[in-house]
Amino acid sequence: MKLQNSPIDTIKFFDRTFYVKRDDLLDLHFSGNKARKFDYFLHNNFPNIDTVVSFGSNQSNAMYSLSVLAKLKNWKFKYFINHLPSYLKEHPSGNYKYALLNGTELIIDEDFKMTQYESKSNELFIQEGGAVNEASFGIQQLAKEIKEWKKENNIQNLKIFLPSGTGTTALFLQKFLDDEVLTVPCVGDSEYLRYQFSLLESDSSLYPTILDPLKKYHFGKLYKEHYELWSEIKEKTNIEFDLLYDPIGWSTLKIYLDLFAKFEILYIHQGGVIGNETMYDRYQKKFTNIS
Ligand SMILES: *Cc1c(COP(=O)(O)O)cnc(C)c1O
Repeated sequence: MKLQNSPIDTIKFFDRTFYVKRDDLLDLHFSGNKARKFDYFLHNNFPNIDTVVSFGSNQSNAMYSLSVLAKLKNWKFKYFINHLPSYLKEHPSGNYKYALLNGTELIIDEDFKMTQYESKSNELFIQEGGAVNEASFGIQQLAKEIKEWKKENNIQNLKIFLPSGTGTTALFLQKFLDDEVLTVPCVGDSEYLRYQFSLLESDSSLYPTILDPLKKYHFGKLYKEHYELWSEIKEKTNIEFDLLYDPIGWSTLKIYLDLFAKFEILYIHQGGVIGNETMYDRYQKKFTNIS
């Protein structure tokens, strides 16, 4: 499997043109920035490894992507979570459902701490959200595709935008690109995001530019305005973005557009659409008047 050359679409939204790098279309099962981050593991041989171990939320995109990676590599996948809501257990959906279908061994442990986990010699341990140095391999390929597209299309003044969780994708992208990378923290505030960057790179001159969102959002919480913006983009552009990060991404980008009036903007679609299944259900339940 070769992960490369996702298409770049041109869309009109907020009364202007944007380019969208469709990493959601990289592959049916292995897509988005998690596929880029884990590409290194797909492409190298690990003769002593037969199990991948990770930790995170019970609906994480990284969990699902690791379950696909494990399947492709013929590895077992052990995934630790702190808790499992009974509703989800009884009604599996989204990343949780598909990770289980891929054979994930889910371990519920309230006290699990990544820092205390001692991996065995047959285990590959992956930090929460795929915040690992090996991620730079696949993200370098993403940067290369952007550079080639820019040259072919003679694009002059370019800004690249993508919403961040751990900030791994934005950080490595900035490292491999001369054009400025803009991002917005979706988990925690900008200080937290800078701290995340510092875990992967000590030279702060190489960090992406952080734009603050309109207001403080709590990650995973439902905001009616986010659902509305997501629906509007879907309707107007025919592109389904993720419901967790992208509404914060687009609504933040909107407030800074005047600053970037003279620039072309390339928005990176980082996948996550499988996770929408659960998010969509939660939105339907909470705001029964939306259809
Ligand atoms: C994981 C993920 C992010 C965050 O990526 P980081 O590299 O952790 O910043 C953003 N969007 C989607 C759709 C994701 O799945």
